[in-house]
Amino acid sequence: MPTKRKTLTGAFGQPVGNDLNTLTAGPRGPALMQDVHLLEKLAHFDRERIPERVVHAKGAGAYGFFEVTADVTRYTKAAFLSKVGKKTDVFVRFSTVGGEKGSADAERDPRGFAIKFYTEEGNYDMTGNNTPVFFIRDPLKFPDFIHTQKRDPATNLKSPTMAWDFWSLTPESMHQVTILFSDRGTPATYRHMNGYSSHTFKWYNAEGDYFWVQYHFKTDQGIKNLTGPEAAEMCGKDPDHATRDLHKAIEAGDFPSWTLEMQILSPEQARDFKWDIFDITKVWPHGAVPPIKVGRLVLDRNPENYFAEVEQAAFNPSSLVPGIGVSPDKMLQGRLFSYHDTHLHRLGPNYHLIPVNQPRHAPENSYQRDGAMRVDDNGGGGPNYWPNSFHGPEPDNVSIEPDIPLEGEGARRPYTFDNDDFVQPGNLYRHVMSEQDRTSLVNNILGSMKDVPKPIQLRQCALFHLADVDYGARVAQGLGLDLDEVRKLSAMSQEERVAATPVK
Ligand code: NDP
Repeated sequence: MPTKRKTLTGAFGQPVGNDLNTLTAGPRGPALMQDVHLLEKLAHFDRERIPERVVHAKGAGAYGFFEVTADVTRYTKAAFLSKVGKKTDVFVRFSTVGGEKGSADAERDPRGFAIKFYTEEGNYDMTGNNTPVFFIRDPLKFPDFIHTQKRDPATNLKSPTMAWDFWSLTPESMHQVTILFSDRGTPATYRHMNGYSSHTFKWYNAEGDYFWVQYHFKTDQGIKNLTGPEAAEMCGKDPDHATRDLHKAIEAGDFPSWTLEMQILSPEQARDFKWDIFDITKVWPHGAVPPIKVGRLVLDRNPENYFAEVEQAAFNPSSLVPGIGVSPDKMLQGRLFSYHDTHLHRLGPNYHLIPVNQPRHAPENSYQRDGAMRVDDNGGGGPNYWPNSFHGPEPDNVSIEPDIPLEGEGARRPYTFDNDDFVQPGNLYRHVMSEQDRTSLVNNILGSMKDVPKPIQLRQCALFHLADVDYGARVAQGLGLDLDEVRKLSAMSQEERVAATPVK
């Protein structure tokens, strides 16, 4: 039996009698200003778009749950991690980074991997990527770096020259560039890639002991990538292939899952650690810090409305719960500001009231009031200040992170702790990649660098050479560069190298 259709109405509920013909003077027009239905419909349409995210604009999302599989209470007092078997609702958004909202899912780019845990202590967001490292380690460089991934200001074209110019002038990018140009830079689907916190975070337990941690969500579907040519073909054949894949898999009941493995360091272990654990261009070698299995992430429900639930989903690394804190990683510190600030710009000061962003299992009891689109009861008649004598919500005096010992003079300083941008990408190239991986890496780089000005090619090949002699030689040979010149440049300091490779 077909159900009776609802009566069409305007935005304020009044019934609409005719939705096909504009009100006109005579059968051939002109239109009458008093066609208020037409005016309302056009005016709303004119405002349908909100600013797209400046990064991570193209994405896909799904709901599911996280289940604890190991006891971690000696590391963290987070309630959602308090018991083996405990399940917490999540919403996850995957994305590319540099492309616009209509760009292809198969572009070479890191992939965002953002998880919102709806815990009983409020929302906890883990805003990760599919790579364990990043291109830069200081947030002052972030807007500049992202400009190189967007469009040339003159031509409005993507510019490999801008990208390689920046990378060759920023040697700390070597590790991430090597992962990006391997076939892991073009994952087959969102289901076939890992997610990493990349940053170091802090976990602290009920006794106030703390630990430095990194999250690794390992795909249970197995890693699967597209080769460079397969990715290029996919961009044209199906620009939305990863969005489609995720939706179809969940619709078919083939729920994707990931195993959460944690790397955990005590402050004592961290003090003697070889690598700077607050430098996002570095990983913690598994041999030194074996990952431990902690939980399982499963996605089992598609959103019903893309704009409402995915486009308006807002994740913040600053959205933390008791038991989880941040680290001094400078990139993380920058993101603590930038994510919330972006959402204020895109969605307004009350974006926490949008259903996908609302805490589901903890009420919001704040003294924040008013602002555009305050669409709940706005705190009703209760007090809007603290302290008050009128039974308003009060701090619990418990949800406080243990004291953070700090020292040092305020100064603008580069990272200098381990001072090595090349050993880890070199190890990746030499020890982790197969010969097929290395061949793909070199071919992918050659495809991107072939039209870049020669001084930039030389400067960048010197950096590849510093990571691994074979790596540098294969790219240099592929570009037709003089190997002796590359070797000479690699023996210079970065300042000398840049001075020796001016771009006309
Ligand atoms: P391990 O051999 O213990 O770990 C290697 C890691 O590399 C595994 O997590 C594996 O992920 C990942 N990996 C495998 N193939 C590739 C590839 N083609 N591109 C990128 N990553 C790959 O070595 P270490 O821990 O000593 O690390 C060696 C290097 O491996 C690092 O310098 C880093 O570049 C890379 N790596 C290290 C990670 C870490 O957290 N230690 C994480 C990811 C990469 P999987 O099991 O999912 O295939």
